[in-house]
Amino acid sequence: METIKIIIAGPRGRMGSEAVKLVENTEHFELIAAVDYKHDGMMLSDLPGFQSIIHSVPVFSDIEKCLQYVKADVLIDLTTPEVGMYHAKTALEYNVRPVVGTTGFTKEDLEELERICNEKELGCIIAPNFAIGAILMMKFSQMAAKYFNDVEIIELHHDQKLDAPSGTAVKTAEMISAVRERKKQGHPNEKETIDGARGALYDGMHIHSVRLPGLIAHQQVLFGADGQTLTIRHDSYHRGSFMSGIKIAVETVVKNNRFVYGLENILD
Ligand code: NAP
Repeated sequence: METIKIIIAGPRGRMGSEAVKLVENTEHFELIAAVDYKHDGMMLSDLPGFQSIIHSVPVFSDIEKCLQYVKADVLIDLTTPEVGMYHAKTALEYNVRPVVGTTGFTKEDLEELERICNEKELGCIIAPNFAIGAILMMKFSQMAAKYFNDVEIIELHHDQKLDAPSGTAVKTAEMISAVRERKKQGHPNEKETIDGARGALYDGMHIHSVRLPGLIAHQQVLFGADGQTLTIRHDSYHRGSFMSGIKIAVETVVKNNRFVYGLENILD
């Protein structure tokens, strides 16, 4: 297998540091640079936690400077929505294929990236959840939604998460919406006595976001019908749970010339 040359943006982050380990431990992956806005001009091995990286991995604060300096195949972005969008767009400008785990991109952001991919005939994979179990949870929920059209989504994450609801919850709602008979749930006259009590509304279904220290990434999809409920739940206990999905995405994006949103679209 040919070596895939990779840049990681956000290497010090909780996801980014796992991605560094993934790339370092995968024989046909090569980490050639990192983007970290706080450590321009340093080597990754100079940063705490990366001393075991013995080959030289230069760090750039700016993606454009990085892309001018190294010749990469893939950019893995695990940063924040604002900077992640800039990183993905700039990578495509330099013919580098983005694999984006950063969540919180708007519909307009996704449309813009899709348009650039189509124009440049380049691959790009954006997935709000790279855990294979979470993808199955979304697929099973879509299957169930054909038979149960009353559903509530409860997503639970650590309290440092910036966006709410989670990208996974929005993606689950979109997948359910595609097959569910349209319905506004709850009592027609229901009234919130405290604002937000019923959660966010997506196409007639409710999404609830829980934020607590100690959690990582969890989601429960609850279906209800006469005399029965069905609960589909996935739990990520460690950020390592996302890495097998990122590995598949990197291996796929180098062969793809299209925009993909959601890991489920590249899994058999
Ligand atoms: P995190 O620990 O806060 O890491 C984000 C990293 O990005 C931090 O190291 C931060 O540095 C860095 N950063 C901020 N601005 C930057 C810039 N301009 N250039 C380079 N790096 C920059 O967050 P996380 O838990 O790793 O999550 C990262 C993203 O992945 C979030 O959007 C999260 O929702 C998403 N996520 C996705 C999945 C998935 O499966 N798709 C799973 C979990 C999380 P400072 O801390 O120094 O500011």
